[in-house]
Order: sequence, then C-alpha cells, then structure tokens
Amino acid sequence: MLSNRGQLSGKGIEESLNQSNKKFASKSSLDYNYSKIKNKMIMGIKEQLENKGLRATNQRIAMLEYLQSTKVHPTAEQIKAAIEQDMPIANMATVYNNLKAFVAVGLVKEFSLSPKEPSHYDGNIERHHHFIDQQKGKIYDLPLERAQVQFDLPEGFDVQDTEVTFYGHRKETS
Ligand SMILES: [Zn+2]
Repeated sequence: MLSNRGQLSGKGIEESLNQSNKKFASKSSLDYNYSKIKNKMIMGIKEQLENKGLRATNQRIAMLEYLQSTKVHPTAEQIKAAIEQDMPIANMATVYNNLKAFVAVGLVKEFSLSPKEPSHYDGNIERHHHFIDQQKGKIYDLPLERAQVQFDLPEGFDVQDTEVTFYGHRKETS
C-alpha cells in the first residue's frame, strides 16, 4: 500500500513537473517572440541608421523605411519613385549614394538578376533565397530552410553562406 502510494505520488509529482515545464517552455518562447517584436518596434529606422554610424537624414529614413516595408525588391529608380510620393528627392546620385551606404553597413542587400539589369535592393537582411517569376519579373522571398543545396566544393573549402535564386513561371491551369 505504502509503496503503491509512494509510486503514485511520485508519478503525480513528475506529471505536475512535466506540466509546469511545458508551461514554462511555452511561456518563455512567447516572451522571447514578444521581446523580439518589441525590440523591432523600439529600434526605429533612425536608431538603425545611427547604430551603423550613418547620419539619419529624412531621405535615408524614408528610403530605409520603404525598403523594410516592401517585398518588391525595388531598383534604385523604383525606390526614388516611391519616396518621391512623400518628399522631393534631388537626384539619382543621392539615392545611389544612400543605397551604397546602406549596403556597406549591412542594412540592405543588393543583388542583380542579370549583368544587364539594374540592381535590386532588399530590406530583408535575414538570410533567404529568392524565386523569380520570369513572366512578370516579380521577386519572391523564400525561407532559407526550403532549399538545402549540396555541392561538391573545391577541396579544402567550407560553405559559409548559401543564397539561391530560383527562376520559373506560373503553372498553366487547364
Ligand atoms: Zn528578398
């Protein structure tokens, strides 16, 4: 009887421990996500620029804000056109200089789809892949884990980073 009861209560304790562990785990991951979101909100565009040692001019703030809010992977011309709806921009050179500065400090990624085409700019600096709709020219972000690519590397080398661009078009629907 006693040992039975002992076993029962032992099991009961384990169960309640498991439950509180589960609660703890889910609570802490929630807290973590919440603080990540909060940090992102607190860390405004201005602070992001200043943290990287860039002067937070209105034009830079507008450009970075636009780049971080859009998914279109715009070209410099498209960025200028989008910003100009809110503020006049003197010239393309300023836009290019600002973009160069963003890329240099890692606030924005630059990539080109072909050497003939102008660069595209990406405010999503998390590592990710791209899918290009060849018919519409639209660029989609793909999460990193969707593409695990293995290559035979030159001997003695190690992969540090992978970024893949997929090209394709919409399936024909019949
Ligand atoms: Zn992207």
